Amino acid sequence: MTYMPVIERRKHPFYSDFEVLGQDERVSFQTKKLAEIINLAKSHSVFYKKHLLDHDLKKSQALSHALDGFPVITANDFRPHVPPLGDGLLTTQDKGYMVFQSGGTTGVPKTSLFTFQEMELINECNARGFVACGMNANDKVANLWAVGSLYMTFIHMHRIFSDFGCTTFPFSNHTPADFIHTVAKLFHINCFSGITSVVLNTLRKIYEIEPNCLEVKKVFFGGEHIYESDRLELKNKFGVQQILAPGYGTVDSWYIGYQCEKCPNGVFHAFDDMVHIEILNEETGKICTSEEPGLLHVTVFERKLMPIIRFKVGDKAKWQKNLCSCGRTTPLFELLGRGDDVLRIGYDSVDYPAMQDLLTKFGNSSGALQMEKRRHEGKDQLIVRIETDAKQDEYKQMSDRFVNLLLAERPSIRDFISKGSINPVIVEWWKPGTLPQNPRTGKLIRVIDSI
Ligand SMILES: [Zn+2]
Repeated sequence: MTYMPVIERRKHPFYSDFEVLGQDERVSFQTKKLAEIINLAKSHSVFYKKHLLDHDLKKSQALSHALDGFPVITANDFRPHVPPLGDGLLTTQDKGYMVFQSGGTTGVPKTSLFTFQEMELINECNARGFVACGMNANDKVANLWAVGSLYMTFIHMHRIFSDFGCTTFPFSNHTPADFIHTVAKLFHINCFSGITSVVLNTLRKIYEIEPNCLEVKKVFFGGEHIYESDRLELKNKFGVQQILAPGYGTVDSWYIGYQCEKCPNGVFHAFDDMVHIEILNEETGKICTSEEPGLLHVTVFERKLMPIIRFKVGDKAKWQKNLCSCGRTTPLFELLGRGDDVLRIGYDSVDYPAMQDLLTKFGNSSGALQMEKRRHEGKDQLIVRIETDAKQDEYKQMSDRFVNLLLAERPSIRDFISKGSINPVIVEWWKPGTLPQNPRTGKLIRVIDSI
């Protein structure tokens, strides 16, 4: 078998033909793909036969409205029909598949199944994303993606780094930072790739062990948003020049978007030859107009074993009006965070990105932050936990400054406190890398609603 590195597989500066197709060809391709997956699901999946009984694609509709009126499904809707709990969602019983886990839970795993052919297409998505982000065969890549416990990322990331012909270091998310420090120095590793918190924590620990020991030019992250304060920290401590997400997606659905070297933070090219993407108004369920924020829903063209139709991803997004300056014709959307990364404090909705913005203004700290809502003597209380390498005798003064900044930015919270309707805000300072993480994925637990 001949080995052909990713870069040689592409036919033009971009990776896939679809990235340069004109609008008419794109729509015609997508319309055909959408009809194929709806027909397959309705004819071969017991679940969808019932679920989509009264719903057919209307040819007269514009593609963006083709699924108007179709029922939305959530992970809770389909889970009972997927092994090990059931098999009604599956279109066939006689194909082998890989079993991955979605979300860290104890007991019966929440599974998502992919055939080997489907995994090959996932690898193609990665090839496209990493080409767009500027990876090349000269990169020396620390692979910190999640391995074991039925997690998907490490397996296919390892494959794509090999396909690029890069020098790769398969550390996974389990290798201690001091060992990574030693290896990274010896081999001059210039690129770190993994779940955002894992990469950030590892690099922070390496910096603690020995400041200025590495020149990291590229960070290719995923799984979580990266905040401006984190980006600044990476630039200041390691001289990182490219901080990009080669793929955004979920294991319950598919890759949905990828960044290119021109994408601003949080903005993605749509993988719209692989998924039909809808952004729906949270209240009405109607298709959002351009630049109107709503909830992401996807129908996956390529999941033939376990069709995913009009699936509520759980993230907020909005379409961008203009195409990207890189020249790709695939549309752009901006991710606006989890639909549920919000705490209701008094009558105010405190969202995680807003708290991160506050932290950026505060300066003097990493972007690792957790917020929790508690009830104390019948009143709401907001607790903000922030990692810092400052000395303990500075904590009190830092807390005062952070609270003052927060109250200045959020007059509603200030009023609630002065009226005694909520408890004062508490700020806790934690040493770098000590805020609680999901033990399986290493992701920071960002929001806790203890009510
Ligand atoms: Zn672009």
